[in-house]
Formats: sequence, structure tokens, C-alpha cells
Amino acid sequence: MTATIIDGKAEAAKLRADVALGAAAFAAAYGRKPGLAVVLVGNDPASEVYVGSKVRLTREVGMESFEHRLSPDIRQEDLLSLVRQLNADPSVDGILVQLPLPGHLDAGSVIAAIDPGKDVDGLHPENAGRLMNGLPGLAPCTPLGAMLLVSRTLETVSGLNAVVLGRSVLVGKPVAQMLLSANATVTMAHSQTRDLPDLCRRADILIAAVGRPEMVRGNWIKPGAVVIDVGINRLTAGADGKAGRLVGDVAYEEARTVAGAITPVPGGVGPMTIACLLQNTLRAASMRASA
Ligand code: NDP
Repeated sequence: MTATIIDGKAEAAKLRADVALGAAAFAAAYGRKPGLAVVLVGNDPASEVYVGSKVRLTREVGMESFEHRLSPDIRQEDLLSLVRQLNADPSVDGILVQLPLPGHLDAGSVIAAIDPGKDVDGLHPENAGRLMNGLPGLAPCTPLGAMLLVSRTLETVSGLNAVVLGRSVLVGKPVAQMLLSANATVTMAHSQTRDLPDLCRRADILIAAVGRPEMVRGNWIKPGAVVIDVGINRLTAGADGKAGRLVGDVAYEEARTVAGAITPVPGGVGPMTIACLLQNTLRAASMRASA
């Protein structure tokens, strides 16, 4: 069997086109564009790249982008005061503080200071609680993107066995919650889970979010399963000439001979994350405007 390749790039482009229509309708109705503020502390190269793409794509869908680039040694109080200022700014609908923050800053209290209605990363404890309780709110972008790819691939997930590898607040926990809300039977696995290969082989839907290059082998996968690879790992060493290459948490070449459908890395979940961020910003703008 050769798996269907789930084209995250194409799905993300479709989603951004829908968001652009929504943003134009919003601007026509309210006389201003939805606005996303991105806060970048320091000059971590990977974060610079992410922020650059976020800014470019925000403008491309017809939204306002506000960039705040701060010195790596900014004090916690000053960062919190910027967040409060953005909370109060009526032209800002979404606030994204790019993670990770430098070690002297407490990311948890910065996220908690964001107005939950503007928390387009969906990481505020209130939004996490809303997701848990099935209430409307803003959910994290990568899990939203992963779920969208699942729903584009399967007519329904109801009753299917889903295994989520990884239990982070950013990916594993929210995606498990979303699958559960969609009536899948969900198992969450982590570094202490026993017999991981055996567990994975029972999954109709396998979501890998562990941050371990190519950990999930082809023989861990149930024939025909839908495999969503969230991992983004840059290979650093090895005499095989693969250094510098981006790989997922799944051994793609092996897995695609067994799975029914699989996301590639890059070009799978990655592009969906920013598209979902833009969708969240439009949602946040619409919720605020109609409140
Ligand atoms: P974290 O490091 O926060 O969490 C990793 C999780 O994987 C933990 O729950 C950990 O278990 C578990 N884990 C680690 N090693 C093993 C193992 N050997 N066996 C089983 N479980 C293991 O990572 P994130 O959730 O933030 O990210 C996961 C991956 O997704 C990374 O590659 C990251 O780069 C990528 N990512 C991609 C995004 C995108 O846009 N596509 C966005 C965000 C992340 P334990 O809790 O026990 O420690």
C-alpha cells in the first residue's frame, strides 16, 4: 500500500483564502481590518523566521500586522506592560507572544496576562479550560491545524482509536481533547508509556508530537491508519549526509508504505499552524466586534 499524502501546504492555502474573504467582509462591516500583534523578544533565528512568515501572511490575507521586537534582556514588568497596552488597544484583535522566551522571563505569567479574547495562540488557561469543557474559545493553532487535516482525510473520527504521542500543553493535550470532542477513543502516550510500538499499532489515527526525529517506525503503524506528523526536527549530525534536513517524528519513507494517509515534513502540519493563527485572529476580531 502507498499512503495518500496529505497536502498541508494546499490545505493551508485554501484556509488562508477563506480567511482573506472573511477579513474583507469584516473590514467592510466595521471600517477597519482585523489586527494581529506579534511580540518577539530577542533574536532567536528560528523565532525570527516564524515571526517573519506570520507578519507576511497576516498582510497577505488583508489584516493589519503590528510587530513588537524587544531586546533579549527586557524586564518581565516591561513585557507585561506591553501586553496590557495591547490588551487595551482597540485595533489589536489578536496578541501572539513568540515562544520560547529568554530564560529570565516567565512565559506562564506573560500568557496569563493576555486578554483571553485576544489569545490567538489559545494558550491562556481560560482558553485551555474552555477547550476542556467544550465551550467556545480560542484553541491552539497547531492542534487545530492537525485536526483540520484529519477531518479533510476522514469523513468521521467517531468511534475510531486515536493515539496521541506527546502530552505537551502546546500540542499533545489540546489535540487529544479535540479528538475526544469529535468522539474518537483517545489514548495519550508519553515518555513513560510502555510498549509504545504495540500501542501505536492499534491506532486508526496516530498523531506524533514528541520532538524525536523519525522515532515512529513503519512497523509501529496499523495498515491504513491516518498518520499526522507534528514533529519538526532538524538533523544535526551523522555521516549519512542528512545533516540540516528537516524530518518529522515519523520515519516517513517506511510509514508511507503502511499508512492509509500521512502528512509529510515539511509541508504537512507546519503550514496549517500559521493559517489557523490567521483564522483565530479573524475569529477573535469577530467575537470582539459582536460582543
Ligand atoms: P514537548 O517537548 O513539549 O513535548 C514532547 C512530548 O513528547 C512530551 O509529552 C514527552 O513526554 C513526549 N516524549 C518525548 N520523548 C518521548 C519518547 N521517547 N517516547 C514517548 N514520548 C516521548 O514538545 P512539543 O509538544 O512542543 O512539540 C513536539 C514536536 O512538534 C516537536 O518536534 C516540535 O518541533 C513540533 N512542533 C511543531 C509545530 C508545527 O507548527 N508543526 C508547532 C509546535 C511543535 P513527557 O511528557 O513524559 O516528557
